Amino acid sequence: MSRATVKCGLAALLVAGLFGIQAAHADPARTVIAPSPASWTQPANIGRLELQATAYHDGAYLRDFAAVDDQVAAWLRAQAPRVSKPALVLDIDETALSNWEEIKANGFGFFSGGSCDHLPQGPCGFTAWQRESRATALAPTLDLVAIARTLGVAVFFITGRHDPAKADTAANLLRAGYHDWAGLSLEPEGSHFASAVDFKAPVRATIEARGYTILATVGDQRSDLLGGHAMRGFLLPNPFYFIP
Ligand SMILES: [Mg+2]
Repeated sequence: MSRATVKCGLAALLVAGLFGIQAAHADPARTVIAPSPASWTQPANIGRLELQATAYHDGAYLRDFAAVDDQVAAWLRAQAPRVSKPALVLDIDETALSNWEEIKANGFGFFSGGSCDHLPQGPCGFTAWQRESRATALAPTLDLVAIARTLGVAVFFITGRHDPAKADTAANLLRAGYHDWAGLSLEPEGSHFASAVDFKAPVRATIEARGYTILATVGDQRSDLLGGHAMRGFLLPNPFYFIP
């Protein structure tokens, strides 16, 4: 037997062995998916994230949310007696009010225009949604506002909604059970800020200029908190959308 014949025989055995091993382990009811190449940089699948976000909303969301508002309440109790004009700044959407019906109908997308006539089917434009004042109270924040009131802490709302929606937003807050706020600030009509920080932090500065000490700013986006002019920021959960 020549060396070439031995090599061919070994190669054939190797190939047969490989296929043989696969055949021996093949399960007719189960497909084994090969690992993706290590070089892949694909981010998380957005459809799977939607399912996870929905399950989170319907599961642990409100518990996690309440845990943050409990932290805020403890902070207010500790700090309010130490200052003369204590204040609490709250964001509105996904902080004081829940837009879940609109978020879910839109499959986590955002539409400015269009009616909300087909809810719970989407799409539902956010302008119409605001006009109808249908957002519901997030109960832990409603409780927090009641606690703030007993502590003599003034409540200011600062929102990325735009000024033409002010009356409808106020109506929605009242309908949801919020009242007696000290201020309600919306972005000026036609304005555009690269980050909500650029609008919200200066508004907090104007509150401070009136002699208030902002004990806490509370929101569901980091941009509700950054930029100073508050003793402490508290971040609520929101995996549903992102505001820079
Ligand atoms: Mg918000």
